[in-house]
Amino acid sequence: NATLYIVATPIGNSADISLRALHLLTLVDAVACEDTRNTAQLLTRYGLHKPLIAAHQHNEHEVAAKIITRLQVGERIALVSDAGTPAVSDPGAIIVDAVRAAGLRVSPLPGASAAISALSASGLINDQFYFVGFLPSKAGQRDSVLQGLAHIPASLIFYEAPHRIIESTQALHQAFGDARQVVFARELSKLFEEIHRCPLAQAATWLQQDSHREKGEYVVIVEGASKDSDQNDIEARRVLNILLTELS
Ligand code: SAM
Repeated sequence: NATLYIVATPIGNSADISLRALHLLTLVDAVACEDTRNTAQLLTRYGLHKPLIAAHQHNEHEVAAKIITRLQVGERIALVSDAGTPAVSDPGAIIVDAVRAAGLRVSPLPGASAAISALSASGLINDQFYFVGFLPSKAGQRDSVLQGLAHIPASLIFYEAPHRIIESTQALHQAFGDARQVVFARELSKLFEEIHRCPLAQAATWLQQDSHREKGEYVVIVEGASKDSDQNDIEARRVLNILLTELS
């Protein structure tokens, strides 16, 4: 049963791994991982030792070929990332694509994902969400991505690095205005877990209230555009046109 298993690992608390994942990790012939040191440590915590294959964003094509060769002789391989679900803002998609294209089986083992955990505790009432992941680091590109998201009537989920959290929050405020709710889900499942919700107008102040908030891992969720906001825009433009005509 040659298969590539996509195995979710914890995003903080090492107990957040499924029984099935632990069992499978005892059976596989090798574990492909983003960082061999990190994964060796994780496996040791569960009393496991497995041959590791380094699979990071710079060698995914090469590693995909090696994994395919091993699967073709009947091996079972697990793919993990440093934390959470592989291939979600993490390496893995190129390998999965190549393995599937080679006609081999890929099977996911569900588990922790920072985005879904944050969404589930956000209290934002919306059936729809849009996963953005990391914004571009260049301000111009970031702002044009945000402009493109401004009218989407779904909760918007972002990943952000702590050293950029204040700057990105200011950009979110600029792009989406004062009123929308924002949820900061910080250090989920870890000792200093913190989940805070407030209007975007108050977000930067909250972040700056405590210097610890410039550290740690964040998921940021912004309430979607209200369903009638496009209608409001159309109305605003109509009024503006009347005023401009009056002025000319
Ligand atoms: N594939 C992973 C997943 O789906 O959970 C995400 C990997 S991505 C490289 C890492 C980002 O996920 C962090 O920068 C942060 O935005 C978010 N993240 C990971 N662990 C987190 C945690 N415990 N609490 C809050 N955010 C977390």
